[in-house]
Amino acid sequence: MQSSFWSPVVGRLTPYVPGEQPKLEKLVKLNTNENPYPPSPRVIAAIQAAARQGLQLYPDPEAMALRQTIAAHHGLAAQHVFPGNGSDEVLAHAFFAFFQHGCPLLMPDISYSFYEVYCGLYGIPVETVPLTEEMVLDVSAYARADGVSVAGVVIANPNAPTGMGLPLQQVEQLLRLHPTRVVLVDEAYVDFGGESAIPLIAQYPNLLVVHTLSKSRSLAGLRVGFACGQAHLIEALERVKNSFNSYPLDRLAIVGGVAAFEDQAYFEQTRAAVMNSREGLVLALEDLGFQVLPSQANFVFARHPQQDAAAIAAGLRARGVLVRHFRLPRIEQYLRISIGTPAQCDELVQALGSVLSGLA
Ligand code: PMP
Repeated sequence: MQSSFWSPVVGRLTPYVPGEQPKLEKLVKLNTNENPYPPSPRVIAAIQAAARQGLQLYPDPEAMALRQTIAAHHGLAAQHVFPGNGSDEVLAHAFFAFFQHGCPLLMPDISYSFYEVYCGLYGIPVETVPLTEEMVLDVSAYARADGVSVAGVVIANPNAPTGMGLPLQQVEQLLRLHPTRVVLVDEAYVDFGGESAIPLIAQYPNLLVVHTLSKSRSLAGLRVGFACGQAHLIEALERVKNSFNSYPLDRLAIVGGVAAFEDQAYFEQTRAAVMNSREGLVLALEDLGFQVLPSQANFVFARHPQQDAAAIAAGLRARGVLVRHFRLPRIEQYLRISIGTPAQCDELVQALGSVLSGLA
């Protein structure tokens, strides 16, 4: 439906389509890369206390307690941290702040599909750079001849939906290839085995690293993400944020986010559990004949050489197991499967066995 009340640009947008959040109970939900474990009990306690006191007041517009906690955790100063309402919001502000130069933004052809959506929203031209046959990011393909302008570079590391990580040395090569533009490294999944570029921030004024509490800290429902970078980049994000919403983080999100960083033991324990389950799941999938890309994330990306991915996903759904299937060029024969608890992984493997024998 189009309407004459809409601004013309609205009809031309191609919005992002998130994975299904089913209303049905009892599904094994492995389709949106959430953490299968609940957040730290300290997060719940902090949110309960904050809910009892102060909700009639606006939150701190700077979310300074959260900035300081994140900064201390990463060995940075508070002016190097910009928190937002989920990393999606932080990414949106970064695209607005850094990539509107009238020339193309470089990104991998297979990556987080929201990047192109932000480009559509802000009118940023996109130039996709193909991953190799093996789904590897080839840094040399990001070089441009002298005089060819680019707006910047955005990558996810580890990449989504492949799960494959790029070594830090190659992130540095990207930073050196485009020293006059921002290179945005989205590290949503880095805590599950990737290498963070945050230690490079002091050295590279063009590096912006984006993190989320949705994955490794089990807080997808709270909506907290942040960017780290040198102060001039953070100031640009502040300017955009303060032109849009003074209070993107509510009081519960601020205290919950702080508590998540204060419970380091819980964080270590749950991410180790997810990584352990991943190793077991990869072996079980390979036993079923799947080819699985090497993952440094809380999901695996796998294809079956004989069976159609859409048919497998439909068969799994009929058995109460949700995984993500993208009808997109190059990856339509892959399934992205989030890592569940050991029990959920077992249910998935059982259901897959049954689906595959039905299709054979
Ligand atoms: N970046 C990547 C690569 C993601 O997969 C996601 C999750 N869909 C996000 C960012 C956004 O996460 P959130 O907004 O929950 O922080």
